[in-house]
Amino acid sequence: MSERQSTPPAEGAGERSHFIRDLIAADLAGGKHRTVITRFPPEPNGYLHIGHAKSICLNFGLAEEFGGRCHLRFDDTNPLKEEQEYIDAIKRDVRWLGFDWGEHEYYASDYFEQLYRWAEELIQKGLAYVCDCTPEEVRARRGTLTEPGSPCLHRNRPVEENLDLFRRMRAGEFPNGARVLRARIDMAHGNLNMRDPVMYRILHAPHPHAGSAWCIYPTYDWAHGQSDSIEGITHSICTLEFEAHRPLYDWFLDALGIYHPRQIEFARLNLTYTVMSKRRLLELVQEGMVRGWDDPRMPTISGLRRRGFTPEAIRAFAERIGVAKRDSVVDIQLLEHCLREDLNVRAPRRFAVLRPVKLILDNYPPGQVEHFEVPNNPENPAAGSRRLAFSRELWIEAEDVRASPLPKYWRLFPGNEVRLRSAYLVTCTGVVKDASGAVVEVHATFDPASRGGSAPDGRRVKSTIHWLSAADAVPAEVRLYDHLFTQPDPDDVPEGQSWRAVLNPNSEEVLTGCRVEPGLVGSPTGAFFQFERLGYFVVDPDSTPARPVFNRSVTLKDAWAKVAGRGESG
Ligand code: ATP
Ligand code: MG
Repeated sequence: MSERQSTPPAEGAGERSHFIRDLIAADLAGGKHRTVITRFPPEPNGYLHIGHAKSICLNFGLAEEFGGRCHLRFDDTNPLKEEQEYIDAIKRDVRWLGFDWGEHEYYASDYFEQLYRWAEELIQKGLAYVCDCTPEEVRARRGTLTEPGSPCLHRNRPVEENLDLFRRMRAGEFPNGARVLRARIDMAHGNLNMRDPVMYRILHAPHPHAGSAWCIYPTYDWAHGQSDSIEGITHSICTLEFEAHRPLYDWFLDALGIYHPRQIEFARLNLTYTVMSKRRLLELVQEGMVRGWDDPRMPTISGLRRRGFTPEAIRAFAERIGVAKRDSVVDIQLLEHCLREDLNVRAPRRFAVLRPVKLILDNYPPGQVEHFEVPNNPENPAAGSRRLAFSRELWIEAEDVRASPLPKYWRLFPGNEVRLRSAYLVTCTGVVKDASGAVVEVHATFDPASRGGSAPDGRRVKSTIHWLSAADAVPAEVRLYDHLFTQPDPDDVPEGQSWRAVLNPNSEEVLTGCRVEPGLVGSPTGAFFQFERLGYFVVDPDSTPARPVFNRSVTLKDAWAKVAGRGESG
């Protein structure tokens, strides 16, 4: 039927089939469309979050898969809440995720003139009218799910009067809120969206994209379907809450006699331990509960980026969760799992000591320095190795030392032998404690015959720990993160309490006295590493050569931490 048939998704390409993919494939196979045009339509009233990422991956991903294209369209109908900063951030985040809209960057506000002409057309057809009711009156007459609404006096205004008033609304003759333009549909309709919805409101305010050209603005419902139609969108993919708006979009398109995209709804992404509403995210930022939109604890794309999430991990997550028709909550651990899977393969291994304690090898010659080759990824020899200096005084993790033995604890305590990774076997001879009883210095002897870290006689050493040469290591700041909320569902609070009550007060821990390998100094923002035994870390934009700053993206799993009931590291 078509000359230029779009390509169906490759079998076994890693993508699981889902109902949207199937619908599109059927539309192409049946000749309904020759190509696929989708769009991602954000309102620029905040930063994008991981839920948007799902929509972006879906819209751009399907277009790519079927050889079509995806538009980036700003649904910018509310100038009071929209800003250029958000437009810029949205473009940056979509690009960072790995998608390209080419020249197809659109703004609903570029269609304002066309929308205005269509509104006049509906007035002329007797399908729209100017209403002078106050918002309270409109609401009161709207009815409920069980009661029909009732028409107001203005509903039967003559066409000429409606046209005149609407033109004067545009000309700026009336103050904000004085009148609205409404569609004339059915005040008794079973679907409340069909009870003469508002199409235009008066708002004397400049617009971030359209400037000061307008003082009346279309509602989202009046703008959205027509914008899709203008752009020739074949599949208008949106979240479930728009299902009840679909009859309205259809009514507008039919009344105007213009092209109908096919609207397909899917369930929003919800994640445990976080919030996804833009309004709440804005509150978190404005009230200083986080350090900004890109705070590493935020579920925003910019926050996830700063936290160390990669576009690859986020795309894999989006593919993994699939699309469904029913709302559900995805465990945030799945998102973290996708990051671990990606970084496990790609992240170079490094040594870092987060809570340093001095280890002194009493039988190691003072002043002597050796160098050891340490593999960049023990599971992947192709990743090569690096040279680390070794000396008599080392830094090790406080977690790796105990003053006395503990059940199932195989690391350093007096009398026990451990391996210093890639260096030597050492046996703890004693610890020095401060007044509070905390270990501040550890003494040990090394076995010169174990150079490289293997026992000459094959004796078993149960634990391997990492280290840094004290003379060589560089001070660094490391920021550890936990969930933003203390419980999976932040809305699950006793009556009268708000989600703010379950904000996690310990979601960020800043460690300033850390030590890292000297080779890490000067790593660019966004560079990621596995700090052996501690997790995956990323260079924060606050980092300077004089003071490197790393964020922990995710921990590694640790069996001992589980046994000990500890949250982390070890
Ligand atoms: P609001 O409309 O309340 O400002 P929104 O989150 O719907 O917030 P939009 O800018 O309208 O923000 O969203 C752009 C696109 O992203 C829409 O197509 C929307 O359906 C989709 N989207 C938003 N949130 C999610 C989510 N949690 N999961 C999947 N898609 C989402
Ligand atoms: Mg929306």
